[in-house]
Amino acid sequence: MSIDVSDSRSGTRRTEVLVIGAGQAGLAAANELKKAGVDYLMVDAGAAVGDSWRQRYETLTLFTPRSISSLPGLPLPGDTEGYATKDEFAAYLARYAKVGGHRIETGTRISALRREHGVFEAVSSDGRIYAAPAVIVSGTGHRFELAFMVDDDAAVNRLYDTWRAAGVAIEQEPSVAVFGRTFVALDPDGHRLRVCTPDE
Ligand SMILES: Cc1cc2nc3c(=O)[nH]c(=O)nc-3n(C[C@H](O)[C@H](O)[C@H](O)COP(=O)(O)OP(=O)(O)OC[C@H]3O[C@@H](n4cnc5c(N)ncnc54)[C@H](O)[C@@H]3O)c2cc1C
Repeated sequence: MSIDVSDSRSGTRRTEVLVIGAGQAGLAAANELKKAGVDYLMVDAGAAVGDSWRQRYETLTLFTPRSISSLPGLPLPGDTEGYATKDEFAAYLARYAKVGGHRIETGTRISALRREHGVFEAVSSDGRIYAAPAVIVSGTGHRFELAFMVDDDAAVNRLYDTWRAAGVAIEQEPSVAVFGRTFVALDPDGHRLRVCTPDE
């Protein structure tokens, strides 16, 4: 089955690169595309850039310091060794989009994507079709995590060794985050399973 992407169809868009998702990955990609002079269009299902952070739980503070949470070209304001709140980070992403002058259609969810004759065709929730020779799809951060609290760092390491030996997919190797030693595995459906120790 082919999709009609003729220009006469109302709402049809053509762009060199379609970026699906204006989260960190999409915005950083758009930044590089702009620098390279490539025509692109970014779409996001959310009503506003940063909504995926805004809608997370009220007390959430990033576990990565501002120095490594910033996107290329625009530092996250504030103490570089301090930690941004989720609303602060959402506002930063919105500002990044504005300062960068990125072309973004918010409130647009891509419901189908296929490649035909080397051209990607994306159908959005409101029926519009975007055609592009290259597409960047972003958006894994909105996945929920199931946390497994274990007693101490040694228990984190033991579980890692056991799961790894059993062939469980590891998404994030053991490392020390602000809340302690942790790693992330994936269940067969791709859900994130975080192993960590309880906060002190
Ligand atoms: C509770 C929690 C805390 C976290 N804390 C940290 C932290 O402290 N530091 C850190 O570095 N990382 C943290 N992360 C991970 C971080 O959120 C992700 O690594 C990061 O957001 C991934 O960026 P992304 O652009 O790939 O995806 P996302 O930020 O998820 O952005 C994807 C975007 O795509 C849009 N989208 C999705 N599907 C569609 C579609 N079909 N059509 C159109 N648009 C679509 C979404 O609306 C969203 O805006 C945390 C994650 C969680 C869940």
